[in-house]
Amino acid sequence: MYLCGMLTVNEIIEQKNFSRENIVTLLNAEGPDGLFLLKRAGEQKLNIVGNKVYLRGLIELSNICEKDCFYCGIRKSNKKINRYNLSDEEVLKAARFAFQEKFGSIVIQSGEVTNEKFVARIEKLIILIKELSEDKLGITLSFGEQSESVYRRWFAAGAHRYLLRIESSNPVLYKKLHPDDGHHTFQQRLAALNLLKEIGYQTGTGVMIGTPGQTIEDLADDLLFFRNFDIDMVGMGPFIEHNDTPFKIPAADSLPLSGRFNLSLKMVAILRLMMPTINIAATTALQAIDPLGREKAVMAGANIIMPNITPGSYRNNYLLYNNKPCTDEEPEQCAGCLDARLALADSEIGYGEWGDSIHFTNGK
Ligand code: SAM
Repeated sequence: MYLCGMLTVNEIIEQKNFSRENIVTLLNAEGPDGLFLLKRAGEQKLNIVGNKVYLRGLIELSNICEKDCFYCGIRKSNKKINRYNLSDEEVLKAARFAFQEKFGSIVIQSGEVTNEKFVARIEKLIILIKELSEDKLGITLSFGEQSESVYRRWFAAGAHRYLLRIESSNPVLYKKLHPDDGHHTFQQRLAALNLLKEIGYQTGTGVMIGTPGQTIEDLADDLLFFRNFDIDMVGMGPFIEHNDTPFKIPAADSLPLSGRFNLSLKMVAILRLMMPTINIAATTALQAIDPLGREKAVMAGANIIMPNITPGSYRNNYLLYNNKPCTDEEPEQCAGCLDARLALADSEIGYGEWGDSIHFTNGK
């Protein structure tokens, strides 16, 4: 059926190349149309990348950050948190745990720090983790914007994936989310992403969904950005206010958390239809809104989960947003519940496998 000359949701889904207008229609799909979108994306995932979900044990190395993003709980101006830095032994213990539990890969993440001491420490840790896992543990890094030589050093040491969210592909919105201090421009972010790709990292990016001032068209453009950039992996999730940031009070026109959640699931689903072979993460922020949020994202097309394996005592200090889940657990508790949860989503965990993005390994 044609509505005022526009294609229906079903007709759009059966097409190969979505236009911006098509994506906006899909993002606005509600009720049976919305459910159909999620279902078709889930089927697409099973057909193309299968029913396996790959694990990335997440180690939150430190909450010390040189950046001052308006939305983020670990921004440098937040004086209300205890800053911490895991010891090398704690990082290696977490990595060893991931290896023993056959997680396949880890992600090491922290606030952005750019000094040589930090860079050399990460380089050493990468080498030690490769050694302790007989080269078997995949290593993803998420340390923000760094210079080309730093990205090259860490790549040479053995890291092979890097996550750096574009946060918004709209430069005007990007500017509203980040301080204009000359060190945090959209162009710098884009340049960093280009470098990562050029060096050979499996490159991941993403956006927050429901940030103040963001429109549905912005989100459609974000999905087109992922496609045009030919990205290998995407992690995106709802924006959630943090009480100790300038963005603590929801803007008058902002979506309720449930609306951001639903929109996030649709973003995952549309992306799976647009880019069938990439890796898409079911992010923790989804779980902060709905206890089954990650499983629902897996049903809608996601194939990566990042269980938190940071030692429990530090987790309360890596609060990027309010109500971050699993902050009072130890890694052992986290791993245990995943099998059961994913069985609910008709999926199984790819234990001991890297689960690289097919998009990357097949050379697109
Ligand atoms: N420093 C690294 C970087 O900037 O890429 C990694 C750490 S950073 C805290 C990781 C991600 O957290 C950001 O890319 C951002 O999208 C997300 N994040 C921060 N604050 C958030 C919030 N209030 N709601 C949802 N996601 C948030």
